[in-house]
This record gives sequence, structure tokens and C-alpha cells, in this order.
Amino acid sequence: MNKHTVLIVEDEPVNRKILKKILQDQYETIEVENGAAAWDILVRQKDGISAVLLDIVMPVMNGYELLTKMQEAHMEDIPVIVTTGATDEDAEHKALDVGAWDFVTKPYNAKALFSRLRNAIARSELSAYEKSRYILEHDTLTGLYNRGKTFAETRRLLDSHPDKTFVFMRVDIDHFALFNTSFGEREGDKLIKFLAQCIADEAKGRPYCVYGRINADVFGVCDLYGGTPDELLRRIERIQERLTRYRQDYRLEVSVGAFAIDAPGRNVEDCYFRASVAAQNCKDKVDTHLSFYDKSSGERLAAEVAIANEMQTALEQRQFVVYLQPKFDVATEQACGAEALVRWKHPVKGMIPPGEFIPIFEKNGFIPKLDYYVWEETCRMLSQWQSEGRTMYPVSVNISRISLYNPQLAEMMTELVKTYQIPPSLLHLEVTESAYMTNPELMEGTIRALHEAGFTIMMDDFGSGYSSLNTLKRIRVDVLKVDMKFLPVKDEAGRGEIILSSVIRMANWLGMSVVVEGVETRRQRDFLAGAGCDFIQGFYYSKPIPGRNMRRPI
Ligand code: C2E
Ligand code: CA
Ligand code: CA
Repeated sequence: MNKHTVLIVEDEPVNRKILKKILQDQYETIEVENGAAAWDILVRQKDGISAVLLDIVMPVMNGYELLTKMQEAHMEDIPVIVTTGATDEDAEHKALDVGAWDFVTKPYNAKALFSRLRNAIARSELSAYEKSRYILEHDTLTGLYNRGKTFAETRRLLDSHPDKTFVFMRVDIDHFALFNTSFGEREGDKLIKFLAQCIADEAKGRPYCVYGRINADVFGVCDLYGGTPDELLRRIERIQERLTRYRQDYRLEVSVGAFAIDAPGRNVEDCYFRASVAAQNCKDKVDTHLSFYDKSSGERLAAEVAIANEMQTALEQRQFVVYLQPKFDVATEQACGAEALVRWKHPVKGMIPPGEFIPIFEKNGFIPKLDYYVWEETCRMLSQWQSEGRTMYPVSVNISRISLYNPQLAEMMTELVKTYQIPPSLLHLEVTESAYMTNPELMEGTIRALHEAGFTIMMDDFGSGYSSLNTLKRIRVDVLKVDMKFLPVKDEAGRGEIILSSVIRMANWLGMSVVVEGVETRRQRDFLAGAGCDFIQGFYYSKPIPGRNMRRPI
């Protein structure tokens, strides 16, 4: 076996000699005469040093100074044994404060010296082992078990109690990606730690509970399950209450997908997967925080997973294509603009409409990438038309909520139109109000910056969301888009029409114009013309058509 190396730091040549002599049979030694020389060696070969024997009083750099330097450089793993005079208790305390592991007194007692050295080195090796095991098994952000350890401990729990019944849960926060872009990663990390604390608190006093962090804001929890969810619901409700109090300006909702483990031999990854499937059911449903796995949802998730697996490649291979749907001026019945709408031209599945992948990309955080791709494609198109000397019309692009809460949005947009050398007035931006942001300050700032940069802002799907009128009070938009499909259908009292004409009138009062979309019939068009609507977008005039097929700008 290789001998351990001990670094002897001592200014008295006689003492150095004595120490070397005592140690040389069992240890390799290096001798230096002051702290500065010791520091040089530690810096160059710290992994080769098993322990340091350190005198305190030395010229150039004394023992305290060396200890302090070692602490600052995170060398606490190397055991330092301080050699002091027999009665120097103060020195001992002081050395302990700056990280010494142990003491030996002069004159040296060979036996004591050996046993202290041996113990210190053994301790340091043990703690290094424990530390690396700890790192392997724990999540650095929250200190909880990591994914691998959570699953392994769940396995152990199930195997040691085949007579008991368990539930596996996947816990996360709805729209965490949105939170992260809105408030930044540091706030995101803080929130994850907070949720970790909530989960740990709920597990206190529950001897059969295993929990850990799976990834991002996702946690896994395995616990006893009696067959009825009441108790579980109470625990989730407590977490929800804490989350509600955590931030007033953002609606934080916890989602728990649960799988009641039906056989003790179940593969744990499998249990987690089923809990994830179940979690989908409570997403987007306000006030639903717990959902159990059932078979039918499994198939839907499989399809979603397939889409998520392919999205990055699809983007790289430019499988997403931009269609344009013209908008018409009601008075002249001439095209006066268009909306860019994305489609996925899948090599195997054919043309996929956005309704099938956008909601998935919103959930998994991919949407900003696709948004940017569509914006850039649109700019490219506009710039092409411009270079061909055609009459230009504005094209609107959709800004998903996640993109809208990106504080850099205005900068990104400005950069984009600059690159393609088109005036910002040609790019109209369709935004949707968010149900999650109860305090729209962030959105206000971004919209103001976009306005200042010369962009036109349209409120998409006005009236379909949470508090449309409230949003208008705080956020200045230039154009309202109202979709026919959000109006009451087939109502005899004509309430839909009354609502529509009131909205148009109100918008005009406030200096906004209105685009009504989803217009399919002549009758609808005529009604809107009478109600003072300026612009119409709908199948009545034109379906979305491939951007590159557009012979002239709309
Ligand atoms: P949206 O922004 O409200 O877009 C209008 C949708 O209504 C489009 O569906 C359009 O094809 C459809 N539409 C237009 N006229 C009529 C009509 O007369 N009758 C009916 N029944 N429908 C009509 P599409 O293209 O399937 O897009 C659906 C949604 O997907 C969009 O709703 C938008 O929320 C999202 N989306 C589409 N492209 C993008 C994009 O590039 N980025 C983002 N973030 N979202 C997009
Ligand atoms: Ca739109
Ligand atoms: Ca719309």
C-alpha cells in the first residue's frame, strides 16, 4: 500500500528533524519552514497531501494565516494538526476557529502523534467518501434526494412492505416555465426550494414517505395510500395555501398526478410515468390540484410525448411553415394586412394544425423557440417583398404568453426588424391576456417598450379570457381582435350581435380599431359593416394560405 504523505510545517530545524524521524517509517514526509512554503506545496499538489502538521508561531506566514488561506480555498478536506506549546490553550481555540482538526503538544509524544494522525486521515477519507455519496444521491438546489435516489428509495420502500398499499405522486407547479421567464431563474430557483420545503414539511412524521426532486419544478413522492383521497387532498390543499400566500402577483397552482400502485412489484419509473399522465388532467383546470391515473389518458400522453420528442429536430429541419391569412378592409373589401399562422409539415404525419402542438409547446417551454422562428420567417418574407418593390402591408405575428413575459422581448424584436431592414410598423404583434398574471406590471413594461420601438399591439381573442376590460385599463393596445367563436351561438335574442357592436363602439371611443376574425358568411360581414367594424379576417374572404404562395403582399 502507498504511504500517506504528511506535510510538516515548522520553522525550527531541530523540530522538523524530530518529526521526520518519528514519522518516516509509516509516512512519506515533506518538510517546509513556514506557511508560505507550505501554501506553495498545497496549491501545487493538494491531492497528494494526506495531512498537515502545523506549527503556529513561524516567520513569513504563521499557522493561523495558512489555516485561513486553506479555508478560503476550500481545502477543509485536508486534516491539519496543530503543534502547540503544552499550556497554550488560547492558541488551540484560535486554531480551531480557523479550521484546525486536532492538536499535539510539544515536546512530541510519538504514540499520541501517530494515533491523532491516523484518526484524522481516516476521518478525512470517510468524509470524502460520504461527501461524494451525498452528492451522488442528492439534488444540489434543494438538498432532497435526486431522481435516481428517489426511485431507488421508493423501490426499497415497496419491497420492504409488500403488505401495504402505496401511491406514487408527481408534484409540480403549473406554468413554471412562464414563472421562470417572467421573474428570472433566481426567483425560479427560490420557488423550487420553497416547494421542496412544503413537500418536506408534509412528509414530517410519516415514516413510510419517500420524496425527492425529479427535475426542474417536478418532485416525486411515494407514500401510504388507504384508498380514499381525502387525506391526500388535505395535504395538497395545505401546500396550495402556502403557494397562494407565497406571491400575490402571480397565481401559483400546484398539480399532483397520482398513481395508486396496484402491485408491489411495479417498476418505479412506470409508476412515475403514470403519475405524470395523471398530472396532465389537472393542468389548465383551475382549482383541480389532484388527479389519479386512468387508462384513457395514457394514450393521449403517448401522442404528446411523440410530439415533444420531435420538436427540436423539426425546427432544425425547418418543418414548420408559415401561412398567411389576409385581413380585409370592410369598407373597400380590399386586403390590407395578414396574420402569420404556423403549420407543421411533418414528413410522416402530414400537415399538423397548430392546435395540436402549440398547447404542448406552451406546457413544455419550447414555444419561445417556435415563436421566434415564425417571427423571423415573417420578417424574411416582408423583407423579400420589400426588395421586390411591392406594395407593403403589415403582417401580424402571434406572441405566446411565455414570450410576452420575456423582459428582453422589445430588444429582440427591434434587433430582428433591424436585421431584415424592415420598419417595425410592418410587424404587428398579437398578444393574449394572461389568466396567470394577476398583476400585469411586467406585461405593461414590455408592451410600453414595444410601443416605443414602433410596433403595433393587438389584443388577440379579446373577451375570451379572464378580465379583458380590466387588462385594457392598464395596457394600451392599438387593435382589438374579437373572434366570432367566442360569442354566444344561435341565440335568438341576438345577444352575440349586441355584444359585438358594443365592443366595436367601445373600442372606437378608446381610439382602437377592431378586427373581427372567424367571419364565415356574407350575413356576418354585412352585420359587421353596419356595426362600424373596420377589418375582417375569416374564411368568408380567405383561408390561411402558404406565405410563399402569396403572389403579391395580400
Ligand atoms: P388565433 O391566433 O386566434 O388564430 C386564428 C385561428 O382561426 C387560425 O387557426 C385560423 O386559421 C382560424 N380561422 C380564421 N378564419 C376562420 C374562420 O372563418 N372560421 C374558423 N372556424 N376559423 C378561422 P389556426 O391557424 O389553426 O391557429 C390556431 C391557434 O394557434 C391560433 O389562434 C394561435 O393561438 C395559435 N397559433 C397559430 N400560429 C401560431 C404561431 O406562429 N405562434 C403562436 N404562438 N401561436 C400560434
Ligand atoms: Ca392570433
Ligand atoms: Ca385570435
